[in-house]
Amino acid sequence: MNTERSDALFTQARQRIPGGVNSPVRAFRAVGRNPVFMQRAAGAYLWDVDGNRYIDYIGSWGPMILGHAHPRVIEAITRAASQGTSFGAPTEAEVAMAELIAQLVPSIDVVRMVNSGTEATMSAVRLARAFTKREHVIKFEGCYHGHADAFLVKAGSGAMTLGIPDSPGVPQAVAAGTLTATFNNLPSVRALFEANKEQIAAVIVEPVVGNMGCVPPEAGFLEGLRQICTDNGALLIFDEVMTGFRLSAGGAQQLYGIRPDLTTLGKIIGGGLPVGAYGGRADIMAMVAPSGPVYQAGTLSGNPVAMAAGRETLTIVKEDAGLYGRLEATCAALEKGLREALKDSGGDGRVTINRAGSMMTVFFSGSPVRDFASAMSCDTARFGVFFRSMLDQGVYLPPSQFEAAFISSAHGPAEVEQTVDAARTAFRLSLA
Ligand code: PMP
Repeated sequence: MNTERSDALFTQARQRIPGGVNSPVRAFRAVGRNPVFMQRAAGAYLWDVDGNRYIDYIGSWGPMILGHAHPRVIEAITRAASQGTSFGAPTEAEVAMAELIAQLVPSIDVVRMVNSGTEATMSAVRLARAFTKREHVIKFEGCYHGHADAFLVKAGSGAMTLGIPDSPGVPQAVAAGTLTATFNNLPSVRALFEANKEQIAAVIVEPVVGNMGCVPPEAGFLEGLRQICTDNGALLIFDEVMTGFRLSAGGAQQLYGIRPDLTTLGKIIGGGLPVGAYGGRADIMAMVAPSGPVYQAGTLSGNPVAMAAGRETLTIVKEDAGLYGRLEATCAALEKGLREALKDSGGDGRVTINRAGSMMTVFFSGSPVRDFASAMSCDTARFGVFFRSMLDQGVYLPPSQFEAAFISSAHGPAEVEQTVDAARTAFRLSLA
């Protein structure tokens, strides 16, 4: 594969951009390669600056559930942009967007738009602290909730991949307000509540974890969290930045039938433009400025071009009753094909595949992956060999063992077949 132009751009980028990229995992460090620079995308495919074509399983890290450059979304963006790109004043599109979100996400009555998942989680936690008049927050080891100070404690994928679980620059006093429990382990949560009586403002969780690789909740775990929070006067925050509009039109909360108090959203909600949101119970959201005293603001929040992309994406999600069934079927076929390829390569029992709907991770570990510790037992060197072989064969996977792959509605049998064929070779090389 010729990557001359990508390599030259990366050399140049490293002079002017930290590590040559604007978000760490893009640098491919964990898989021992230079990143490829992308030029364009359509449907399930990406093309790099050297003209190589890839089947894309990153989907911009989640947003592109309809595939790249969906004609309806592009048209909506173009139409909105032609009428002005930002007003700093309310628009009709924001009202429509709030209505759509409230219709789709079961627990959201009132919602505030922001510009990223990080802003959403940061603001939701501020609100939870204000509402409960308590300061501690519980998160789970290996879950990532964006890069706000309070969350850079045992924070999953990006930080984990770089080997810096806690970032310098986060004040000790801020980190001390974040307590960490073990995912899929209710006793670890109960113990923290017991040791910090009437001090826990909220439990924040990725209901299906994407940020230590795909780790679904075991039966009863989310129900247990709901009960513990209710019993102790703490708020339950579902961070559905990744799972929102991905696992179902109403996110993980609809799939598992759990009602969190607050929900954070991102990725798909912006249809590929920078959007996040947080919302939930009306009585809690009433505390957000200017209706209440909890300050949170944004120059570009509810931006008309971003709202147009998000609104069109969510409208398609709402109207297309077969969407999630097709995503499930395609990803199930991919999982089945990968398991067969694994068997053919003599790798049975040495790899664990976790999947929830259209999120999936191939873990290089023979043991079940159900929490951070079991994710960490993976053989990342073998994953690196697998990743590089897949890339060379035109399959673009997340460049980290600790990320979920995503499929879109533009992926179909042809892409699945090509991916499985590539995996036969990649498994053989990586498990040698
Ligand atoms: N929460 C979760 C669950 C995420 O996966 C991410 C991003 N991967 C974030 C929050 C942060 O979102 P953003 O990158 O848009 O700030």
